[in-house]
Amino acid sequence: MRRYLKLSVLGLALLGGGALTGCETNQTLGRSQFLLVDDAALEQSALAAWQEQLKTAKISKDPTLNKRIQTVGARIAAASGLGATGWEYVLFDDPQPNAFVIPGKKVGINTGLFKVVKTDDQLAAVIGHETAHVLGKHAAERASQQMAAQGALQVATGATKGNVQKAIASYGGLGAQVGILLPYSRKHESEADRIGVDLMAKAGYRPSAAIEVWQNMMAQNSGAPPEFLSTHPSDKTRIKDLQDYIAAKGYK
Ligand SMILES: [Zn+2]
Repeated sequence: MRRYLKLSVLGLALLGGGALTGCETNQTLGRSQFLLVDDAALEQSALAAWQEQLKTAKISKDPTLNKRIQTVGARIAAASGLGATGWEYVLFDDPQPNAFVIPGKKVGINTGLFKVVKTDDQLAAVIGHETAHVLGKHAAERASQQMAAQGALQVATGATKGNVQKAIASYGGLGAQVGILLPYSRKHESEADRIGVDLMAKAGYRPSAAIEVWQNMMAQNSGAPPEFLSTHPSDKTRIKDLQDYIAAKGYK
């Protein structure tokens, strides 16, 4: 905790309290988080990147798939307690089985995902996982960790507030510089898996469908790992963890 306190003071000095939230307990995760920024602070640049993505990427008009992601998305959003408004689910015409979420409640789903997602329960597993990243404030935590490392450096070299603002813009920017997504840590992925399963159960979906998605993905073996299938935990470890969690919770 001593280290966190020091970083928190450092953050205060750097940001003048503007975007600072500090060390706080995340009820969903049941642990404390060190946050120099919150999702709202990341939203502006994330939304700019999202608009860019909508302009440049190919969007699928497939009516059946679009209806499915809207319907499942709405149920998961309602279960999340984050409010039903503001969520946007866009279907990208891309063969890679992938899905992602960025601050501002924007969820992207590729048509290729439906190679491994057959049922709405399975789709709820993916959308549940992505929504869990939002509940977990994972994007803000990741950016804060990077900023803390960068901030320490800047203090040593005489940082100005302008530099830090630039750093925020760059870490928040999900566009050309860093791609639409940075990989999450293994810890974040495990948390998203567990909270995602809770959301499925709350929304009335069958949690064990999450295991099926993984098994389908392993069978598919499609090369580059999608966001919700980060390379960190091995497929088998992840399936085992999900099975254990679902059993412990008494889910079906
Ligand atoms: Zn994830």
